[in-house]
Amino acid sequence: MAQNVLCEVNSCRFWAENSCTASTIKIGKSTMTDVTRNAETDCETFETK
Ligand code: SF4
Repeated sequence: MAQNVLCEVNSCRFWAENSCTASTIKIGKSTMTDVTRNAETDCETFETK
């Protein structure tokens, strides 16, 4: 279970006070190549409010 996940994506329905309230989160790759930096990761649990 994800605990103490800090997040700045305030347009997500799981966002509250700079924290994530989802019970679990899944992070995927935003590129087809090997990930080498954080900008190449994506939260796949994101849902719009
Ligand atoms: S689901 Fe992802 S985008 Fe949404 S609040 Fe949690 S960490 Fe942030």
